[in-house]
Amino acid sequence: METMKKKEFWFVIGSQHLYGEEALAEVKTNAQKITDELNKSNILPYPIVLQDLALNAERITNIMKEVNYRDEVAGVITWMHTFSPAKMWIRGTKLLQKPLLHLATQFNENIPWQTIDMDYMNLHQSAHGDREYGFINARLNKQNKVVVGHWQRDKVKQQIAEWMDVAVAYNESFNIKVARFGDNMRHVAVTDGDKIEAQIQFGWTVDYFGIGDLVEYVNTVKKEEIDTLFAEYEKLYEFDYGNYKKQEWEASVKIQASYEIAIKRFLDDGGYNAFTSNFEDLHGMKQLPGLAVQRLMAQGYGFSGEGDWKTAALARLLKVMSHNQSTGFMEDYTYELAEGQESILQSHMLEVDPTLTSNKPKIVVSPLGIGNREDPARLVFDGRAGEGVVVSMADFGTHFKLLVNKVTAVEPTVPAPNLPVARVLWEVKPNFQDGVKSWIENGGGHHTVVSLNLTTDQIVTYAKMVDLEYVLIK
Ligand code: MN
Repeated sequence: METMKKKEFWFVIGSQHLYGEEALAEVKTNAQKITDELNKSNILPYPIVLQDLALNAERITNIMKEVNYRDEVAGVITWMHTFSPAKMWIRGTKLLQKPLLHLATQFNENIPWQTIDMDYMNLHQSAHGDREYGFINARLNKQNKVVVGHWQRDKVKQQIAEWMDVAVAYNESFNIKVARFGDNMRHVAVTDGDKIEAQIQFGWTVDYFGIGDLVEYVNTVKKEEIDTLFAEYEKLYEFDYGNYKKQEWEASVKIQASYEIAIKRFLDDGGYNAFTSNFEDLHGMKQLPGLAVQRLMAQGYGFSGEGDWKTAALARLLKVMSHNQSTGFMEDYTYELAEGQESILQSHMLEVDPTLTSNKPKIVVSPLGIGNREDPARLVFDGRAGEGVVVSMADFGTHFKLLVNKVTAVEPTVPAPNLPVARVLWEVKPNFQDGVKSWIENGGGHHTVVSLNLTTDQIVTYAKMVDLEYVLIK
């Protein structure tokens, strides 16, 4: 997740020459104060960099062209200190290819009734400038974010922070590269889709590889590398030998260690940051990668099973957005339908993301009923509780559609001694019946990405940035 650290946002202040040099000097001083306070707040995940005042069309256009060109600049935040005639903004705004946030704030919080005169009104006229500027963004269908409130309020800073994370993910979306080991699981519909359209709309590259390409990497992993990684597992996880002899158990876990090393090497060699597997296509593999996949999820790689490249890319995207906190691939499995306790048990055959755990995971080896391979090792844990969002992307032939449902994850209280996979339990909003009904009626898939770190608003903000149809259930 190193790539996200060096991003910044440009802060562009709207004004005009009409007010004279003295007024503009004060605009600049005020803008500097806001910049300094926002950067010192420890709330924004990325710094803002104040630009020359936007006083005419040429300057605005040059700033926006520079934003497009510089990889380290993830987006633009604008503030109308005074009135800034919006015809000046048309060219630059049209050229801007990165996220835009209009901060509708004002330098002074209060109206100074005792001293206010027309000079004060002319300098502090954000309310006036906001509307002129907002009109042109709306007319250009810019899909920009508008954050309203005084800049010293934590609530305002928090909204800027959340948007920044979305904006960085938007930029990173064009760098998402998915390696698919095997194709789509046979006969499955919702996981398939138009890869060219996904590249046009979201910037995702999706490449197919035969499993043999990965097997070659597995075969070159050295014994010492496996032993070193196994020692790391010993520090991080409980070892649960179950009914296996210690030696047998260790041999099984070490196969997953070799897969972890090989898959990581394969992905890094090719510049891939997401991948899929398919249990129907495991020629030359002794096990379905389980523990190996979970370890790579924890490191920030996007993943989905059964060749589902859409969900793998989405997982990578939301891991970037959430700084890889409590976010990953999930699958709807089993309902709890008792009245008042309605919830959905989430899991996968092996690959549940350890960033969602509430406890120290244990490594378990257990048979897998499908795939016809040796018993694979996997991390078993209970998911943590919290408010979150679950997202699924479907291809409707004419367009992609994003399903977004607000959920409340709850910690399971009853043990499940015969369940050899990690489990996550959640309740859906607005209530079980309406939430599940909407999801199904709108064609939402069974493969999802869940995040207990992101908000529904952040997901919708991204959807608007990429002109993606969405259904919000909350
Ligand atoms: Mn699945």
